[in-house]
Amino acid sequence: MVRSVALLLLITKLGVASFLETTTPARQASQIQGYQTACTQNTAVTFDDGPYIYEQALVNTIVAAGAKGTLFGCIYDDQNVQALRHAYESGFTIGSHTWNHYNITLGTTDNLGHQLDLVETALWNILGVKPALFRPPYGAQNAELVSYLNSRGYTVVGWSTDTQDSVGATVATSEGILNAATAGNLFLAHETIQTTVQQVIPDTIPGLVARGVNLVTVDQCLGVNPYQAVRGSYGERDASWTCQGTPAPGQGF
Ligand SMILES: [Zn+2]
Repeated sequence: MVRSVALLLLITKLGVASFLETTTPARQASQIQGYQTACTQNTAVTFDDGPYIYEQALVNTIVAAGAKGTLFGCIYDDQNVQALRHAYESGFTIGSHTWNHYNITLGTTDNLGHQLDLVETALWNILGVKPALFRPPYGAQNAELVSYLNSRGYTVVGWSTDTQDSVGATVATSEGILNAATAGNLFLAHETIQTTVQQVIPDTIPGLVARGVNLVTVDQCLGVNPYQAVRGSYGERDASWTCQGTPAPGQGF
């Protein structure tokens, strides 16, 4: 699968009502050191590898009627800018997942720094936020890189429980994993997997909510701020909004 600019969507309750709740984090810690693989409170489901063509649908309680389209291009494409803003306004927390989805353990801290800069610039342009959460692609990380990420203000987030959607699990398997949710679970899913968006999530989330599983954003489940900075307004497109000259998927750092 082609994975281009990668941003981490950290899902909350699938509803609009949570937007205000998630933007009043004043009492939260700024970050946690080290690599986090479980929630310290409540339960979170996360979606990697966006923004993708299913994102709008995912946010709209995952009703993706007829979602289909072209391969994902650049984060600055109009469609992706709109998808990101829609997710943000709907109460999702948006984190960094590198610029071109490379394995950060194959590069240096300088390489990683460049990737962080690219994502930070894009999110500042598009949303007016500086992310505070980072998920390494493939979960690949080491102590030096995690320490570097912490020094850049990031809480580094893995997962406790993989829905296995990106490695070919059946819908029934992924649904079974999610239906066993309990406090502390930090689920990994992918918004690029059509069946996740169109079947697994709508089939499972209402039932989890009904039996009292408290689904929150990852920042909430870890007790940290979702963003390092919030400007409070979106940027306006100009000539700098381009992916030209930046690392493409599979093209180095
Ligand atoms: Zn990924």
